[in-house]
Amino acid sequence: MTQLSIVQVAVPVPLRREFDFLLPEGHDRSPVPGVRVLVPFGHRRLVGIVTGIVSTGQVPAYSLKRIVSVLDGEPILPAKLVNLVRWAADYYQQPIGIAWQTALPQLLRGKHSLTPNIPEHFVLTDAGMHCDESLDRARVQRRIMDAFAAAPGYCLDAPALKLISRHWRQPVDALMRRDWVRRTPYTEPPASGSQPRDFSLNEDQQEAVDAIESTVNFRAFLLYGITGSGKTEVYLESIRTVVNAGKQALVLVPEISLTPQLVQALRQRFGKSVAVLHSGLAAGERHYNWWRAREGHAPVVLGTRSAVFAPLQRPGLIIVDEEHDTSYKQQDGMRYHARDVAVYRAKLEDVPVVLGSATPSLESMYNTSVARYRRLTLTERAKDSALPRIGYIDMRRTAAQDGVSTILFQALEQRLERSEQSLIFINRRGYAPVWCCYGCGWHAQCERCDAHLTLHQRINKLLCHHCGREQPPQSVCPQCEGVSLGPLGAGTQRLEDGLGKRLPQARIVRIDRDSTRHKGSLENSLTAARNREVDILVGTQLLTKGHDFPYVTLVGVINADQGLYSVDYRATEQLFQQLLQVSGRAGRDIRAGEVLIQTMYPDHPVFRELANHDYTRFADYALSERKSADYPPYSRFALLRAESTRASAALEFLQAARRQLRKHPEHRRIHVMDAVRAPMEKRAGRYRAQLLLSAPDRSALHDALMPWLDWMETWPRSRTVRWSIDIDPVDMY
Ligand code: ADP
Ligand code: ZN
Ligand code: ZN
Repeated sequence: MTQLSIVQVAVPVPLRREFDFLLPEGHDRSPVPGVRVLVPFGHRRLVGIVTGIVSTGQVPAYSLKRIVSVLDGEPILPAKLVNLVRWAADYYQQPIGIAWQTALPQLLRGKHSLTPNIPEHFVLTDAGMHCDESLDRARVQRRIMDAFAAAPGYCLDAPALKLISRHWRQPVDALMRRDWVRRTPYTEPPASGSQPRDFSLNEDQQEAVDAIESTVNFRAFLLYGITGSGKTEVYLESIRTVVNAGKQALVLVPEISLTPQLVQALRQRFGKSVAVLHSGLAAGERHYNWWRAREGHAPVVLGTRSAVFAPLQRPGLIIVDEEHDTSYKQQDGMRYHARDVAVYRAKLEDVPVVLGSATPSLESMYNTSVARYRRLTLTERAKDSALPRIGYIDMRRTAAQDGVSTILFQALEQRLERSEQSLIFINRRGYAPVWCCYGCGWHAQCERCDAHLTLHQRINKLLCHHCGREQPPQSVCPQCEGVSLGPLGAGTQRLEDGLGKRLPQARIVRIDRDSTRHKGSLENSLTAARNREVDILVGTQLLTKGHDFPYVTLVGVINADQGLYSVDYRATEQLFQQLLQVSGRAGRDIRAGEVLIQTMYPDHPVFRELANHDYTRFADYALSERKSADYPPYSRFALLRAESTRASAALEFLQAARRQLRKHPEHRRIHVMDAVRAPMEKRAGRYRAQLLLSAPDRSALHDALMPWLDWMETWPRSRTVRWSIDIDPVDMY
């Protein structure tokens, strides 16, 4: 009897299974796992990935379709990453086809060839190296020549030139006409020798570096260093060793534009050999950088969330900076946590992984306490600066104007006189969070969400931050027909305007999602701040992450109270992390810093720990609370979400799904809560509900979920709502 090969293929459809196909006509050799194939699917043809091959002597009873064509001659991901994608799909209970989509650069999700279109490369000629003509009247040419002179091998590619100027083509043509620059074929970027720094590591830093450097196999480290303690140097030094040994380092950051210092430092030290991967890149550029990582041409690969799946030819080290940051958790599509995937990947690849933060997640703190991770601590600020003093302003007793209390205002004036910078943090963009009737207290609500509309005064619109809906502000109250309506509360724009009026001499810059929508505007604002061209920075949490502002000596926090009494069990943790991070922006140079926090609850225990900068104590306390409530990391959560345009449909769906789960014996090992309406029930016109499951360990959760979700995928009713499963959920709204 002839053997029949059945090829299993991950197809990009939202089902947690693979599909079987026969080899294409005339093929007798099976493609290997990791190879892309074109398959017929319904009326369409889809690009899928081969995940396995089964040989069988039996022709299956059902008829199998043939693969249309095999797209690759070799797997596009190495075997270990094929396994990583499989693991992630299993662990997070996500469809394998969707997991593959997440893991690949966009172009490779389609039929694009594995080898990218390699961008043009240019190099300085001998004449160019020795030219000393001034280019004063051609500023872009000057900048481009300077960049060539500084580039490893005097070579730049088109994306690098585009970073210098969007209009690089003409000046480069001009330079080529003068024979100073010529085209050159792509070669591997030279492994640029890293530039030395001008200080030596302190004892804590050196100890951390030694521990990391002496590890070649899998080991997870938590680099727990207070703000300004020089974690970046520890990363750079460990990366240098790995690169010198001919291996590659993968560095994950929450958002590229928010960590300009790390990006800059890596570029400075490792030059063109850094391959950057994030969603802001053009598809071709991303594919090219991904390919350089895969071929081993890029010794350092720097990226956001999905870069955790970037293939490396010679992996040596994985770093996750700001590991507590929730943007590592993807909230839609493939729901996974890049930090946790990074740790598992390090295990698969048998390399060390370093998670770094001044305010580590409670999960990571817990993992060090049970010796799963090794803790490396940096206890002091790297420069000779003390941590800032944190004080509270009791808003029940203090007058305020446009959100700023008298005390904070005086402190701002003082900094202005001393030519020092201040930073005002408020977690609300827009002008005012509420548009209300002063007569009867009516508030403008979004029709499609359970949320207030935010006034954006510049465009004179009320915006919903949840669904994007906009409308003009009402001038007549729909409830009492009064005409005295206006803003209540303050957002970033109101602070900026208010302070601008009261301190006309101050140079104020606002940093939030609205002010940074244009490419490069965030970078410009941050550079201006570092060049002391700004007196007051007003911004949202965009300002809290990883920035080194050496001249900021005052940090003001407006309304810190959201999060103190939230329904989300992680809210306090996130508030504490945010406040400690933003406080950490103050006094990073030699001058002492001060933090003033406006609150209605100055006696809240969270604020006491914060004043002592005692994150460890806070974490201990928060963990003990989690333990007594049997919350993660002492248990495992999974959240089944559903939403529908029909009121109650989502809730009823979850109730029915819950009844089905309880028919299955495996459910006894887990705790199934009641299905409830989501805290913000209505969003973008859909009614949302959720069902929380908790389990003592991962396998209990997995065993209960597997058959239940399998059943759900075939349950006709599951097509009447939108549903999703979220393992280790971070956001409970
Ligand atoms: P973190 O990321 O831990 O908040 P950074 O890495 O941004 O801290 O370092 C804070 C500042 O201290 C930076 O300006 C950095 O250049 C400087 N720095 C780091 N290590 C040292 C050191 N050993 N000696 C002097 N300055 C240092
Ligand atoms: Zn009214
Ligand atoms: Zn809305």
